[in-house]
Amino acid sequence: TQLQSRRLRQPIVVVLGHVDHGKTTLLDKIRGTAVVKKEPGEMTQEVGASFVPTSVIEKIAEPLKKIFPIKLEIPGLLFIDTPGHELFSNLRKRGGSVADIAILVVDIVEGFQKQTYESLEILRSRKVPFLVAANKIDRIPGWKTADTYSFLESFKAQRKDVQTQLDNYVYRLVGQLAELGFNSDRFDRIKDFTKTVAIVPVSAKTGEGIAELLALLAGLTQNYMKSKLRFAEGPAKGVILEVKELQGLGYTIDVIIYDGVLKKNDTIVLGGLNGPIVTKVRSILVPKPLQDIKVVKTDLTQIDEVYAAAGVKIYAPDLENALAGSPLFAAESEQQIEEYKKIIQEEISSVKYYNANIAGIVIKADSLGSLEAIVEGLKQKNIPIRLADIGPITKRDITEAELTLQESKEYAIIAAFRVKPLQGIEVPNKVKLIYSDIIYQLIDEIEKYINEIRE
Ligand code: GDP
Ligand code: MG
Repeated sequence: TQLQSRRLRQPIVVVLGHVDHGKTTLLDKIRGTAVVKKEPGEMTQEVGASFVPTSVIEKIAEPLKKIFPIKLEIPGLLFIDTPGHELFSNLRKRGGSVADIAILVVDIVEGFQKQTYESLEILRSRKVPFLVAANKIDRIPGWKTADTYSFLESFKAQRKDVQTQLDNYVYRLVGQLAELGFNSDRFDRIKDFTKTVAIVPVSAKTGEGIAELLALLAGLTQNYMKSKLRFAEGPAKGVILEVKELQGLGYTIDVIIYDGVLKKNDTIVLGGLNGPIVTKVRSILVPKPLQDIKVVKTDLTQIDEVYAAAGVKIYAPDLENALAGSPLFAAESEQQIEEYKKIIQEEISSVKYYNANIAGIVIKADSLGSLEAIVEGLKQKNIPIRLADIGPITKRDITEAELTLQESKEYAIIAAFRVKPLQGIEVPNKVKLIYSDIIYQLIDEIEKYINEIRE
């Protein structure tokens, strides 16, 4: 029944890794395969995420039955659609992440690159378990693509020297992970998955290895995270991924619900630019069911309620100042509203920062998650921070940067992540204004400027 199948919720899966290593291609392959393999009515529609039901995982993983004799109890897997640091940072939950597990995509031929290391740091700091998809195996010289989703089947059919080459690449990854303190091995040689990170060779292009990847994601989350995945029948808990203005409708928020049930007309409490917002859900929106296998999600339709885990768009009054990266709670009483307001206020305060005694840089960001990630990144590099806040650049930010300037020229920086100066505000030349839409580029440019001034 509906209720029984909901005893465990879908684990939430994110994809991280270096640029061009195949994150988007892998997600497209998984989504595309799921759409082809599903039965009509099996696939729920999501905003910002894609649901792969267990029936599809079982079909794809059919050839693996002998190796992974697991009976799946989870209803499926929920993949966050947009891969990479930027959105992941907004999947925040106090001290951790809303994501249950991550796929770290590494080009098997290129090995670890800058953003692979950065991704690992983020996963470590947010305590998200992960497995490694060693991607692009079809590019190993001599590889003959087999018509299967199974890596092991395809591997068996390869020439001996090609098999050896693949394993050499895998060992290099094992070595790179060991340097960072992670035990790892090719997934089929692992005895204890709680101690060893699984490396799954895949080709996002051909689909080889997708069977093992899905089977492992499902098996590991189900085996080791049962208590976390136990579905709680109660008011919804979620996190705001993005705030968007919809033409003809107004401001909406894209939310990942990770616990409970959200209903139309529920009172919700969420973070805003100027403090917590209390409002009432007018509509819960999801894409219309797919008519064909093309993966397009444009037309939205209303639903009355939604169960965790799910990605939905919410329309409600007063969302124009909603804050991406903030928690969202449905509340059932005045008392709960007050409690949640307090929790949210505390959470926003824990990320914001100001110290008038520090000659340091000023950071302004558009979301709680990106602000937190930038502050963490700068702390790791021992770059002093004077002010870290959300919203556009104001007169006050300039004043703070000018105060820093009096003591140390190299830190007279305003770092702006997806925000601009308020209308009429001009940043004087002696204060360096650095913009970027990519967290790590922003941090790199800050470092570069500091070094330039020092020389
Ligand atoms: P992202 O930046 O990590 O999202 O990487 P993309 O998914 O955009 O992939 C970057 C490039 O690598 C694209 O040209 C893809 O077609 C290609 N690519 C991705 N996965 C594979 C793979 O498994 N095999 C091969 N041969 N090419 C791949
Ligand atoms: Mg991409």
